[in-house]
Amino acid sequence: MSIGRLYPWHREAQLRLMTALNNHQLAHAWLFCGPEHLGKLDFALAFVSSLLCEKPRETGACGDCSGCRLLKAGTHSDLRILTLEEDSKQIKIDQVRDFLEWAVQSTQAGGFKTAIIWPAERMNRNAANALLKYLEEPAGNRVIILVTHQPDRLPATIRSRCQRINFVAPPRNEAIEWLSRDIQDTALKERIAELLELARGAPLKVKRLFTDEYLKLREEFFSGLGDILAGKKTPLKMAAEFEKADLANLIELWFELLWEIQRKDYRTEPAAALEQGIIGKIQQYYGAENIFRFLDRLSEARKMLAANYNLNARLILEELLIGWSERNDPSSPNTY
Ligand SMILES: [Zn+2]
Repeated sequence: MSIGRLYPWHREAQLRLMTALNNHQLAHAWLFCGPEHLGKLDFALAFVSSLLCEKPRETGACGDCSGCRLLKAGTHSDLRILTLEEDSKQIKIDQVRDFLEWAVQSTQAGGFKTAIIWPAERMNRNAANALLKYLEEPAGNRVIILVTHQPDRLPATIRSRCQRINFVAPPRNEAIEWLSRDIQDTALKERIAELLELARGAPLKVKRLFTDEYLKLREEFFSGLGDILAGKKTPLKMAAEFEKADLANLIELWFELLWEIQRKDYRTEPAAALEQGIIGKIQQYYGAENIFRFLDRLSEARKMLAANYNLNARLILEELLIGWSERNDPSSPNTY
């Protein structure tokens, strides 16, 4: 392998692409979708490197031809990666224009010219429109891969011009087995099943996110939310305590918690201990209706964060927490 990485749960996707390639039916545009932390970008990188490798093997790129060496060095002229530039929350039209100019030039090695857009949902409207023209008029030996965990945020016109591959989390047993082999830390090892549950089955999330620091943040945040409901803490105090935390992370945690409640009645395994406590508290105070309404609020906040550069994160957090606290009187009727 030269760049990227294949994980066991990529087998089906790999088979599909390799079959298309071997049959000379490789589509020029692909959309890789599915939850975060399944290694979609790794897979995209591994696949384009097998296209650019001079001596590809059945398993992918060889790792030591000159093509692979250029890939590793990040200097292969037939690969473009469009991603967020520093401090930007959007992939902009200038980046796409630059890519389009590059894409019409002939390839250096006479083989494929490949591009990856990640996270594709971050293309702004103008960028997406500019890309659309390119997707409508495919040129030979060009392969572009759009990687996203939010395909619905891409214009339907873009989606419909791509071949779609949906990545799904591996079966639980497979994931636990893989993680047991991969994780060295003994303390983490003991918690694999629980952490995998928290990670919604995404193995790489267990590895990447569930560091001690993340778990601590999670625990403190959930406890704080419980304290607000119990009247032990004010929203403003809590907003001050979490001022330094990344708001996007907090919002994702909040989603996780509420989803946990939504699916509580359908799940077969018990929630992690921490969740059980807070879930009980939230149910005591909130009806299902209120939870749905709060999920809407979180979605709004998430959209605002994704779309804007200069938001006052502290203010948004304060507003959300005030909204959260306003339902803390169990005797007050749900507002319909
Ligand atoms: Zn190679």
